[in-house]
Amino acid sequence: MYPLFGENFQVTAATTYPPTNSNENFFPTSTRPRLLVVDDQATNIQVLYQILSSDYQVLMATSGAQALALCASKQPDLVLLDLVMPEMDGYQVCQRLKADTATRDIPVIFITAQTDESAEEKGFDLGAVDFISKPINPRIVRARVKTHLMLKAQSDLLRSWAYLDGLTGVHNRRFFDERVAAEMGRAIRNQTALSLVMLDVDFFKRFNDHYGHQAGDDCLRRVAKTLKNSLMRAGDHIARYGGEEFVCLLPDTNFTGAMQLAETIRRDVISLQIEHAQSSVAPFVTVSLGVGCKPEKIHGSANSLISLADTQLYKAKEHGRHRIFGAELTE
Ligand code: GH3
Ligand code: MG
Ligand code: MG
Repeated sequence: MYPLFGENFQVTAATTYPPTNSNENFFPTSTRPRLLVVDDQATNIQVLYQILSSDYQVLMATSGAQALALCASKQPDLVLLDLVMPEMDGYQVCQRLKADTATRDIPVIFITAQTDESAEEKGFDLGAVDFISKPINPRIVRARVKTHLMLKAQSDLLRSWAYLDGLTGVHNRRFFDERVAAEMGRAIRNQTALSLVMLDVDFFKRFNDHYGHQAGDDCLRRVAKTLKNSLMRAGDHIARYGGEEFVCLLPDTNFTGAMQLAETIRRDVISLQIEHAQSSVAPFVTVSLGVGCKPEKIHGSANSLISLADTQLYKAKEHGRHRIFGAELTE
């Protein structure tokens, strides 16, 4: 009945089907959207797979629990969710997805044989974006899926812009504030270290006054680019913290590692050799740095770590600039 699947075909949680060729695909192959189809009946999944697999990556789950696990680990762009399932029904799955910050932005479309309006109302109240009724009409499914994927792509883009600094292209303060709290929670849970490197351009007011605001902007862009190049790990983040202040958020990095990175940054910035005739410390633009570290076994707070790094930065300024001070949280 479904020639796509051989006799040995099994639906497993981790199964991904790379899409085959498609003549009309509006998404580039490299970023082909990922769908999760959830239904306790494998035959229903197969129907949807046949309709969608030429245009999208299709993940499959046959229970609510599997669906939640896949959403957390694979971050699909859209979930097609059966309403009636044993153990955890579609409503419960949707509720759980919407309650978790890691999965709440994944749009959910309910697929249901129920036609009464109250079922639909309840789904929308729980945060679903649409309903598709069984028996499935392939053209309607394709159209709705495409619409919601485009909306998702647009909102992803807007969300990413909301977290970027317009001048330098690194993350902004909002991103940092949210991320540092999340990383602190994770570091405490996993008993790992978490470090911050805060840095501030030395005598930047004089730089602006002497070379002009546009040259100042250009300098900030170059410093930001250097910071990006200095960070080596995928989990590290740079954000513009204030006017000429930046902060590096370094998960799983101990005090020694953070101090080494700070030294790399200190050297990389002066190596740019951006002329700064009015600086009292060097003929080039320099930065002062403050390092704060939450050691593995310590339960810190994001605020205490930020103020520690800030205090260390202040000390670096006080002691002559173009240098690094650092300390670890002790409680
Ligand atoms: P210190 O060595 O103690 O850090 O002195 P400073 O002059 O760098 O520090 P201060 O806080 O006195 O001055 C910071 C300057 O940064 C003042 C402000 O005009 C400039 N600034 C802040 N944001 C921007 C920006 O986006 N572009 C430019 N060009 N300048 C900025
Ligand atoms: Mg400064
Ligand atoms: Mg400053």
